[in-house]
Amino acid sequence: MNIQDIKQDWIDQFEKPLIIAGPCSAESEKQVMEIAERLDKDYVQVYRAGIWKPRTKPGSFEGVGAIGLNWLKRVKDEFNMLTATEVANASHAKLALEFDVDYLWIGARSTVNPFTMQEIAEALRDTDKVVLVKNPVNPDLDLWIGGLERLAAQGIKNLGVIHRGFSSHNKSKYRNNPQWQIALELKDRLPNIPIIGDPSHIAGRRDLIAEVAQQAFNLEYNGLMVETHCNPDEAWSDAKQQILPETLKDILVDITLRKKNDSSDVFSTKLNRYRNEIDELDNQLLGLLASRMDVAKKIGNLKKEHNVAIFQPDRWNVLKKLAIRNGTRMGLSEEFLEHLLVSIHKESVDLQNEIMDK
Ligand code: PEP
Ligand code: MN
Repeated sequence: MNIQDIKQDWIDQFEKPLIIAGPCSAESEKQVMEIAERLDKDYVQVYRAGIWKPRTKPGSFEGVGAIGLNWLKRVKDEFNMLTATEVANASHAKLALEFDVDYLWIGARSTVNPFTMQEIAEALRDTDKVVLVKNPVNPDLDLWIGGLERLAAQGIKNLGVIHRGFSSHNKSKYRNNPQWQIALELKDRLPNIPIIGDPSHIAGRRDLIAEVAQQAFNLEYNGLMVETHCNPDEAWSDAKQQILPETLKDILVDITLRKKNDSSDVFSTKLNRYRNEIDELDNQLLGLLASRMDVAKKIGNLKKEHNVAIFQPDRWNVLKKLAIRNGTRMGLSEEFLEHLLVSIHKESVDLQNEIMDK
């Protein structure tokens, strides 16, 4: 089945944006039920809880395991909500199907691995459940789309993606850099695929959730996945980014939904999309520049320790030549590159001077 041809009309059942909410991890039956009770069902259609948790380091809480599936079943029965959990291997996938979990998502650390994706896709063969693929941790659009293709090839028709941002070594105010332009390119290439924003994992901090959520709707996302907990500070995973169910409602009430494209505002919609891309890229540029200046400071300290002069004409000429050659190959004008490099270089020299003067 060609992924381009699948309609993805499962999303049309929702009159409002699709909101998936619940704790990062199921911790106890009581915690799961209390959060479900406090979520406003007028806004939240799907209850999420991770029961198998991929953690960066061993020794952290790795999820309650299969017992949590019973708790999700209770949420479904008692609150009439759809349920969602992460599956990270074939046995998770089979268990989730057995317990009738409605939406299964593939986590960022699984999407990244084609063997894992293939194994999960085969375990879910021909399922009618909705399967949502989070972006891989690294900014690789083909890998993300490849995951969807593996699922489609196994006859899985109800698909969607979750944009949770990308790991980055560069400084940014976010835990995972959104790199909106990658998700927008996915929208361009696969216009039928519903796209859900995950402001919790993008932001990593609860005070940024509202702004990231609004940005997702500015880009016409179909919905959000937001981590909510009754006692966020005490959560067993991702404590900093979880919010109260009531806070989620406040955010959703305040959010502005952007209307869909129509012939009369094609221009402004496109303009907004491009402007958001520009803002995002500018953010990345600034982050990169800040990182570059940090390295320049290290060099300043090194030169000071060894009593070496700041300005090294040979190095500057080589650097400039190389950057102009690379930059012009990328389609940037030589004049622009000259200005940019001189300005960056001047700032580095000023910073190093400051260090020498100290
Ligand atoms: C999660 O949703 O709790 C999770 C582990 O997300 P991700 O795969 O995006 O890190
Ligand atoms: Mn989480």
